[in-house]
Amino acid sequence: MVNSGIRWSPTRMARIQNILARLRNAAKAPSPYHALRWHTLRRQDLKAGKRILICGAGIAGPTLGFWLHQYGYSVVIAEKAKAIRDGGQNVDIKGPGQDVIRRMGLAEQILAKNTQEQGQKYLDANGRLIAALPIGSIGSLTSDFEILRGDFANILYEATRASCEYRFGCYVSALKQADEHVEVAFNDGSVEQFELVVCADGIASSTRQMVLSEHTHFHDFGAYMAFFKIPRRPEDDGWAWSINGIGGTMITLRPGTTAETTVLVTFPKTAVRVEPSGTAESKAVLREALLGRGTVAERILAGMDQVRDLYFGPMCQVKVSTWSQGRVVLLGDAGYCPTAFTGQGTVLSLVGAYVLAGEIKQHEQVADAFAAYEQRLRPLVEQTQAQMSARLVTLLHVKSRAGIALMRVLQRLIASSPVQRLGKWLAGRAKQTATPFQLPDYP
Ligand SMILES: Cc1cc2nc3c(=O)[nH]c(=O)nc-3n(C[C@H](O)[C@H](O)[C@H](O)COP(=O)(O)OP(=O)(O)OC[C@H]3O[C@@H](n4cnc5c(N)ncnc54)[C@H](O)[C@@H]3O)c2cc1C
Repeated sequence: MVNSGIRWSPTRMARIQNILARLRNAAKAPSPYHALRWHTLRRQDLKAGKRILICGAGIAGPTLGFWLHQYGYSVVIAEKAKAIRDGGQNVDIKGPGQDVIRRMGLAEQILAKNTQEQGQKYLDANGRLIAALPIGSIGSLTSDFEILRGDFANILYEATRASCEYRFGCYVSALKQADEHVEVAFNDGSVEQFELVVCADGIASSTRQMVLSEHTHFHDFGAYMAFFKIPRRPEDDGWAWSINGIGGTMITLRPGTTAETTVLVTFPKTAVRVEPSGTAESKAVLREALLGRGTVAERILAGMDQVRDLYFGPMCQVKVSTWSQGRVVLLGDAGYCPTAFTGQGTVLSLVGAYVLAGEIKQHEQVADAFAAYEQRLRPLVEQTQAQMSARLVTLLHVKSRAGIALMRVLQRLIASSPVQRLGKWLAGRAKQTATPFQLPDYP
């Protein structure tokens, strides 16, 4: 070979020799698709070397890892926790989220873990029935794709653990962007280069704060949310129970596993509250919201010390004016959390991961890929976030006895046959006129 003065690294030399050998073989084979095969080879070889770092192994991170691996990328997933976090309540996977699951070939596994929830009951603070909305009713929490968030996270992990490199107890401590890569320093002191970095580290994303903090705004609805599990009891009947309590504390218990019942407690912040930090402080705030709130709340309080993976935080939405900066991009709750209260965070994560991977695959330029991802997804995100409002949160967390009495009248009305018939008719009409989000194809 002529000495051109360029010094190739052994890896690059090996890669070039590999390409040349494959080209020689391709040229030998008489194929009418010769030109096409050359093009395919070139694209794959360029892409196969790309390493992408995903921060966060919740729902969005592993889903993105799944698709990127399908498209030939090499994926590292850094998760701050020591293992997959299997906490959380029941998540309802709806609409385009179900389509993503089907395209991943995971629908059967999800259905096998269905919590078999039969519907939603409204109860009073001592567990007496006010109204019931069986599965399929208008206004019921229960959908046909009900799974515990932890089971779902584990299914995604199992589907990707062989194809993506998972690093637990690992997080980014600093990021430096260059033209051709991002230099990443990890908490163990090591430094590596990646083509792209994806922040999928949840609502409190620290990687987002490293690059897009000035573009980030939290829309706080003035309430707290706590998700956790307590031991199941014989009286837990397979229905979701919702209770509006004095002081605005709202409790929802839902079927989890044969051994556990899941709990969601939401309650208004008091005027002079300093944000609790850490599990002990969060549990203290939670205890205060449950004290003197009836027998169901007492049962939860009794199991509080044993609660293992508490997911606690303010009920808020993440709004970021631009989702990327250079080679770093936001995904899932880190970029556009609609609040877990909407139940739509999982759907946005699934669809976001699918679209982001597809656009990375489709584009040669990083900026084009990220722009196309944001352009496709932002309308769905804004529409989903618009479902929440401070007024709705106040209405659902009525504080006074009179307000709670009125709420019960409303709950009975919603469950009544005439209102259900009217609701179903209106929903049918809305379906006919609505244009649902269509998943793009990335052939
Ligand atoms: C324990 C838990 C319980 C939840 N319970 C519910 C629920 O019951 N109902 C509901 O609707 N939503 C729940 N959510 C939120 C829901 O998972 C998300 O709204 C949605 O699925 C979006 O997923 P995500 O992957 O973007 O974020 P998440 O599911 O929040 O995942 C983010 C992941 O990033 C990890 N992480 C955090 N910081 C770093 C870092 N610096 N570096 C690397 N990794 C990091 C976290 O440990 C977590 O595993 C829960 C989330 C968690 C983590």
